[in-house]
Amino acid sequence: MPHETTDQPDPRRLIILGSTGSIGQSTLAVIDHLHRSTKHRFEIVGLASGSNIDSLSEQAQRWNVPNVAIARTGDTAALRRADCRVFSGPDAAEELVDAVARPSDMIVGAMVGSRGLPAILAGIRCGCHIALANKETLVAAGSLVMPLVSEHGVNLLPIDSEHSAVFQCLSGSRSSDEVARLVLTASGGPFRTWPGERLESATVEEALNHPTWNMGAKVTIDSATLMNKALEVIEAHWLFGLEADRIDAVIHPQSIVHSFVEFRDGSVLAQMSPPDMRGPIQYALTWPERVEACAPTLDWSTLRDLRFEPVDHARFPAIAMAWRAVSAGGTAGAVLNAANEVAVAAFLEHEISFGRIPEIVGEALESVPPRPVQSLDDVMAADAEARQLARRLLATTARVYG
Ligand code: MG
Repeated sequence: MPHETTDQPDPRRLIILGSTGSIGQSTLAVIDHLHRSTKHRFEIVGLASGSNIDSLSEQAQRWNVPNVAIARTGDTAALRRADCRVFSGPDAAEELVDAVARPSDMIVGAMVGSRGLPAILAGIRCGCHIALANKETLVAAGSLVMPLVSEHGVNLLPIDSEHSAVFQCLSGSRSSDEVARLVLTASGGPFRTWPGERLESATVEEALNHPTWNMGAKVTIDSATLMNKALEVIEAHWLFGLEADRIDAVIHPQSIVHSFVEFRDGSVLAQMSPPDMRGPIQYALTWPERVEACAPTLDWSTLRDLRFEPVDHARFPAIAMAWRAVSAGGTAGAVLNAANEVAVAAFLEHEISFGRIPEIVGEALESVPPRPVQSLDDVMAADAEARQLARRLLATTARVYG
């Protein structure tokens, strides 16, 4: 568990990695609220984006940010007009962190996919506290990240709503030995009630139409396959130090209860709030304090029922893959994640059917043997091997479907 620090500098220096995505934009909305309505103050010293130069340039001007990073190379004139130092290229986010971050800064990790990993590791090495939305960082490299967090004495605060919920439920707990198991809630996505055959051929548009959460494309597709919950099982394993047999999931279509913690004595704690990422973002930014909400709060006059259903593992095999990956250890998480990133991108490009996404991830897990992780190179090698294999599987699929 993170240790509470009361000597936070004011304003707190903040770097947002993935600032133009859904979580990045919500983070800026929360900071705007905190500045207007509370005593919390943040100085944004760096922003990083993948490719959205116009939006990054607007953010830099609006927030007077002195340093920006853009992964896309090419015309960065708009950024230079914003009068800030510009880092560009595939390693730009990491270079920005290396050049700008100071001990006790906070980094919001909101990039999508394992490409966010090097910049997070650089931040931890520099002594920065991390508010982490980028679950792929822990899925691929939890065995590197967690020891580094301890070594540098920094806080790792979850922004993922389920993990924020567990973190909040554990705040009065002395040790993970008191926890019998975690139960992560899953909305079930848009295909919760669809029969298996129909699920196989769901379209991109259908998969992007999430019933309760408004999120980026990658995580929305992951929610439809329940691969998002699979990634979150692995994320919870690293964050809370529990093995696969103590991390379960339950379908909860309303997305009001964000997770449960069952304790040894049979008591169960849950955290509830409307499905709005501004809640967990704000909790991470102001922790250990709670201040007035940025997002609408629960309306008890309209809340009639909360429903829960078991996960149908036959239609949604992803979570069982996560349990296997946690038990296998080593590079298995990196393999699962990389194969999924390739499969989701291919589905979004209409190259493969929806049903092929979990198949490709399962085949990658079977084919790439888990190896021990000693360095980032080990993770990146497994990531590359899994991507290569997944792309070969796509090619086979394309011939079959083509
Ligand atoms: Mg989540």
